[in-house]
Amino acid sequence: MGRLTKKDLAQMNEAYFESLDHERLVKVASNLLNLGINLIERLEQNSSNSSKPPSSDNPFDKATNKDTSKEKPSKKEEGNTKSVSEEEKIELPQVKEESKGTPGRQVGSKGFGRTLILECDEIVPHYPSNCNACDVELSQTRASVYTGYYTYELEIRELEIRVVCNLHHYYAIVCDCGHETRAVPGTGYVSYVEGRKKELKLTEAVMVGPLLTTFISALSVRYRMSRVKIKELLSYWLGLDISVGTIDRCIREAGVACFPVVEQLIEEIQKEELIHIDETPWYEKGMFRWLWVVISKMTAIYFIGTRKKEELLLVITAYMGWIVSDGYGAYRHYEKRQRCLAHLIRKAVAITGAVDEEAKKLGNELLDALRQLIKAISEEKEVDVRKRCGPLIDKLENICNIGKDNRYSKLRDLSREILNDWDAVVAFVNNTELPLTNNEAERALRHAVIARRISFGTRTNEGSRVYASLLSVIETCLLRKQNPWTYIAKTIALGRKGITPAAIPVS
Ligand SMILES: [Zn+2]
Repeated sequence: MGRLTKKDLAQMNEAYFESLDHERLVKVASNLLNLGINLIERLEQNSSNSSKPPSSDNPFDKATNKDTSKEKPSKKEEGNTKSVSEEEKIELPQVKEESKGTPGRQVGSKGFGRTLILECDEIVPHYPSNCNACDVELSQTRASVYTGYYTYELEIRELEIRVVCNLHHYYAIVCDCGHETRAVPGTGYVSYVEGRKKELKLTEAVMVGPLLTTFISALSVRYRMSRVKIKELLSYWLGLDISVGTIDRCIREAGVACFPVVEQLIEEIQKEELIHIDETPWYEKGMFRWLWVVISKMTAIYFIGTRKKEELLLVITAYMGWIVSDGYGAYRHYEKRQRCLAHLIRKAVAITGAVDEEAKKLGNELLDALRQLIKAISEEKEVDVRKRCGPLIDKLENICNIGKDNRYSKLRDLSREILNDWDAVVAFVNNTELPLTNNEAERALRHAVIARRISFGTRTNEGSRVYASLLSVIETCLLRKQNPWTYIAKTIALGRKGITPAAIPVS
């Protein structure tokens, strides 16, 4: 006997079972049992018991490696019922056992010093300009070097990219008044992380120049390369041997330098008229988190946190315009909101594949109504849209009212979802300029979703903020048609002097 198909199932109902004699009923039941076992087994497949990759594991599953037959909290789609306990610790799919060690070099292991033989291309002198005590201009003739350090910097010319090594000399000058004044490397923002041995401080006295720092962070954040791969690339392609620790510091430094830029972007987005919002799961050292994006035509802001409304309010504090979003509860108190219709259409498509004939028929009608609405809006921007859409909207409401009590749960849920959020679903009828899908936000999250699958998220709060800040600045630069890397390099150079950079220009 072949496996039961959808068509076979559609023919079965209680009346059919009643009509069967005992022997046949047992046959049919065991046939159904086989199907059930088969489906359950397939449902429970994950990276630990099949050849499926870890990226295909359900992020909402708490313990993918453990007994999967335990109760799983599944993603309750689109509604007020989203109740995933966000603070709960989940085990990362690739981690077999909780490792007790800290990341990085272990205490007592052999250290690595600088292995490069430094050949200096240029000596860059730094003199104090005026006496710190009496403010008289100082003459460089009496200057003496008191400290210095080497830097590597990327030099990009047409059809050429190379690393140059500079030696920075800092001079001290004794004034006529007897006071000695020293030129000192600039310093900026300090990022604190609890329990870290050495704080991350923006300073000019580091080995990697602003452009090379930007290049390294681009390889990591934009091109999704691991620290180890970046080390390999720099070594083979540029002849530059630097440690994984230095590479990590560069990426963090670039992100920290972008913090003030993100503050500016948050201020700017309050004045926008239309924003898209979406969120995707994220991990921060095994903790379940969310990566949010708030994006307008000219500005994109990413942040990592819980899924609480309060976190979102920190970014859209004074926002008064329209929001395009999915049906998640955190958005529901906004009156000026358009629901993403593509989400609803995808759910309606799923219902059209139902076994139940009645649900299938209603699903098709629902899908039709939604599609016709979109067509009507896109075709007739000028003519009175309300008149054209009126009957379509009534039709949609009717179908939902019939569907909300249907025995097929998917149809029932979707109908109720549409009715519960009715104003946001049809907001576009009275405001024809509103987009009908949340594609902008979803597209803006794609890059990070792929990165999550490769890296399994970030490790610290600082790492999360760094990653989100870099994404925000890069994406905003692209929206504003600016070169993100020149801007970030400039931001790092200024940040190392403690200066806040100018806002990202709009061209
Ligand atoms: Zn003086």
